[in-house]
Amino acid sequence: MSDKIILTGDRPTGKLHIGHYVGSLKQRVALQSTGEYKEIFIMIADAQALTDNFENPDKIRESITEVALDYLGVGLDPSKATIFIQSQIPELTELTMYYMNLVTVARLQRNPTVKAEIQMRNFEANIPTGFLCYPISQASDITAFKATTVPVGEDQKPMLEQTREIVRKFNEIYAPVLVEPDILLSSNKSCLRLPGTDGKAKMSKSLGNCIYLSDSADDVAKKVQSMYTDPTHIKVSDPGHIEGNTVFTYLDAFCRPEQFGRYLPEYKDLDELKEHYQRGGLGDVKIKKFLNAVLQEELEPIRKRRQEYAKDIPAVYDMLKKGCEKAEAAAARTLADVKRAMHIDYFNN
Ligand code: ATP
Ligand code: MG
Repeated sequence: MSDKIILTGDRPTGKLHIGHYVGSLKQRVALQSTGEYKEIFIMIADAQALTDNFENPDKIRESITEVALDYLGVGLDPSKATIFIQSQIPELTELTMYYMNLVTVARLQRNPTVKAEIQMRNFEANIPTGFLCYPISQASDITAFKATTVPVGEDQKPMLEQTREIVRKFNEIYAPVLVEPDILLSSNKSCLRLPGTDGKAKMSKSLGNCIYLSDSADDVAKKVQSMYTDPTHIKVSDPGHIEGNTVFTYLDAFCRPEQFGRYLPEYKDLDELKEHYQRGGLGDVKIKKFLNAVLQEELEPIRKRRQEYAKDIPAVYDMLKKGCEKAEAAAARTLADVKRAMHIDYFNN
């Protein structure tokens, strides 16, 4: 068996959306059945979510249930993947404390994702220390499980780079006990950072431009109908643009060739549809109708499975508790290695 280990996760700041699905969830579901990984750890990052939601702990608490249901709905299998809650693993906080010594404040302030998030949240001069330091805590999450592979969206690139720097520095100063992880990005470009339905750069819970995995069929249809397309494409006969056109980005991310036969037999494939749109003579209503059919096909089974699991919430919490126990055992082993390497294991010999 290989020694590859996956760690990834999501912030419980709301329900999960189709950006999470194409950016990371779909890959996790595929990877859990390959037999390529010794362990798969999936973390609900509540402690990280609190760094910018500390005034609203109940939102985080409620979202844990939603995220767990989203996981089960997309087909993550607790017998193959260990699903756990970050705050229940105190070893992660302890590791963060030691890693903080290895990172400068200037380095944290340079992180482009954190920079953008600070701006979005209007933190500017009043950045909570915990928020600024979340990339360090993320390094703890990844290294605690000796993860080799982290399947995430493109916005997580700077976090992975920060983690790798911490690993190298720790191993160099103390002893080579930490594993340098690799990011695993989707091979489909449109899935790296799915834009919002408003055409904004990223679909994000905090921006309110999401199609949620748990949205009803009607809600999905309505959101698709009012989606951002090409503002210069006014009459059907006008030539249209594909770049920055959210409907086409979503089609790139979701549609499969055989769906043309089912819904749009007059076109061979997506390239032909794009050509027609660019040439003029193809209206937004038609492409939106197609996108809606494509999305409904993908989301319907997820929604149904999710509803089934939602009937027994205590069972979901039972699953999470078992996951936490298994995760804590793994993190405790790494923390012991770390303390030994740092010569702070005073009572072990
Ligand atoms: P928040 O606004 O609270 O940060 P979020 O929508 O950005 O929420 P996260 O929980 O931060 O979601 O991200 C979870 C995972 O989903 C990460 O791997 C992230 O890269 C990925 N992800 C989030 N949004 C997108 C997106 N629009 N496209 C592709 N991947 C995404
Ligand atoms: Mg985010």
